[in-house]
Amino acid sequence: MSAPALHLSGVVLPEGAHRDLWVRDGRLTSDPVPGAETVSRGGWLLPGLVDAHCHVGIGRGGVHVEDLAGLREQAVAERDAGVLALRDCGSPVDTRALDDEPDLPTIIRAGRHLARTRRYIPGLAVELEPEDLVAQVREQARRGDGWVKLVGDWIDRSVGDLAPEWPADVVAAAIAAAHEEGARVTAHTFGTDALPDLVRAGIDCVEHGTGLTEDLVAEMAARGTAVVPTLVNVENFPGFAAAGEKRFPAYASTMRRLYAGSGAVVRAAHEAGVPVFAGTDAGGGIEHGRIADEVRALCEAGLPAEAALGAASWAARAWLGLPGIEEGAPADVVVYDTDPRVDLHTLTRPVLRLLRGRVV
Ligand SMILES: [Zn+2]
Repeated sequence: MSAPALHLSGVVLPEGAHRDLWVRDGRLTSDPVPGAETVSRGGWLLPGLVDAHCHVGIGRGGVHVEDLAGLREQAVAERDAGVLALRDCGSPVDTRALDDEPDLPTIIRAGRHLARTRRYIPGLAVELEPEDLVAQVREQARRGDGWVKLVGDWIDRSVGDLAPEWPADVVAAAIAAAHEEGARVTAHTFGTDALPDLVRAGIDCVEHGTGLTEDLVAEMAARGTAVVPTLVNVENFPGFAAAGEKRFPAYASTMRRLYAGSGAVVRAAHEAGVPVFAGTDAGGGIEHGRIADEVRALCEAGLPAEAALGAASWAARAWLGLPGIEEGAPADVVVYDTDPRVDLHTLTRPVLRLLRGRVV
């Protein structure tokens, strides 16, 4: 099944130069293709957007979505927002059937969340004790697409506040095991206390990261450890605090403090040189397709507009091993009719999505 020959012209980001591009056999080329149909002229062309943290297979209220139609609906919502690749940061269901659907975004999976027993949202994670973590990390590394997801901290009801889930030596062995399997590791953390062990053990990325301190940011910058702040989700922290207030006042106060500092953390990370990527945490309480909101939130936190765009496009793609707009790359391109660097609201209105060389 050969893809049609297409032609586009416009300002290609991040370079910012006006170019003509052609699509032949689903791939980009700067060599004119005779007879190609012009599908876009005069717009701004971005490498397909990336949602670097979302969950396909988790529906509203944490309900598992297992039927193909329901899984498709979530992936289509991302795609329609211009997201042509997503990093699934842990799903309780097997979504491999979606890989056979040519009109859906590329999914890069992290297998299932790995959490300590009764220390995460019920029903989502593989729940286990520290002595079993290394073996499970190896299993999830083999199930995923190059990532493993740990739950690094969560409320500890015996403490009444956020607390680390794993001892330092276990974290170090787990991360080393994942790396041996050829997988990168990321961890959910809201608070601070779990982070030093994770960062020192060479974790590749931190999700949320609201508890990052100046010292940790400096160490991550030196190591090249990334952060995906999920500011769309951090907006829920005051709600989490209110829900926990009566039984866990210390937790509620921690969540409010983390919320208040969340923008400053993102700005400090970016300014220190920590790679920051855009992820919405969609799935569960957050609707799919909100990447534009996350990009705007990153910008409001202090990333320059171009860096916020890169965090959801070319920079995120490079980090995940996906090409940008370049010779021979699969034609995954999103087109806008105004310059998104000037107005990030433009991101909510893609005028064309080209996925693997086909208009979707
Ligand atoms: Zn998540």
